[in-house]
Amino acid sequence: MKSLIILLFFSIFIAQDAMFFSGEKAMSYLIKQCNFGPRFPGSEGQLKTAQYFEKILKETSDSLYVMNERIKHPYLEKEIPLINFFARYNIKSDQRILLMAHWDTREIADKDENEENRVLPILGANDGASGVAVLLEIGNILKEFPLENIGIDILLVDGEDMGREGDADNFGLGTQIFSTKIPRPLPIHAICLDMVADKDQEFLMEQYSLMSDQRLVKEIWDLANYLGYNQFVYEIGPAIIDDHYFFNKITGIPAIDIIDFNYPNTKKNYWHTLKDIPENCSVESLKAVGTVIATYIYHTDRTY
Ligand SMILES: [Zn+2]
Repeated sequence: MKSLIILLFFSIFIAQDAMFFSGEKAMSYLIKQCNFGPRFPGSEGQLKTAQYFEKILKETSDSLYVMNERIKHPYLEKEIPLINFFARYNIKSDQRILLMAHWDTREIADKDENEENRVLPILGANDGASGVAVLLEIGNILKEFPLENIGIDILLVDGEDMGREGDADNFGLGTQIFSTKIPRPLPIHAICLDMVADKDQEFLMEQYSLMSDQRLVKEIWDLANYLGYNQFVYEIGPAIIDDHYFFNKITGIPAIDIIDFNYPNTKKNYWHTLKDIPENCSVESLKAVGTVIATYIYHTDRTY
């Protein structure tokens, strides 16, 4: 009984410490991105969304670096632009944490159950817009409550989702370029968000993340569970070649991924299909991830 009381007290203490994060505001950022249409490199939606990000991130951050690159399309005979956004908060600190998400959407719905749809681009409400939506709202919080000790860098990367099945090197193209040119001072570690708005949310511990920084994975999962978000499950999931993988491989900086790879669950699939739309995303799920990240940031800032 005594241990239960102690545990309960500790849970309440942490819960009171939680940062407020608006799932509604994050959802409005998710919908806004989808309203620009598909956002794969070379699309009209890409350029419109890039202008939108530039305006928002300029307003909230201390400095914004927009990295414009042109690469050859991995499978077509044409050049395409890649645009990465790197926004710094509390720029004077050299103790920095990087938060990253990809903002591009997949050019082909190659997992759609309807064969005719497989040549069409996806809207990427969850796979593309969701991680960005959380980070844009984190940017607002960082502007409203300036950090004292640590600095945060928000990186929105392009060209994550261009690879075809079995061709891992053509995923994470924006991250691969950015990682060779990352501005100094370098972050201590990186946290990547991908597919975080699923209504049936479940985060397993991704394998490359555990190999890269097991302590950080445990810290985030522990914090999430103390906050009551037991969708952060203490179970080892698959190994995912995502932006965190390339970032860690190229820079050597530890990087972990918070990713819900079963969208919506193991029985149904909306991932890389035309069903990846805002209606299949959840305010509560965005709030859960945003609350964990915001609380992690300010807790780290206070205890640094
Ligand atoms: Zn994808």
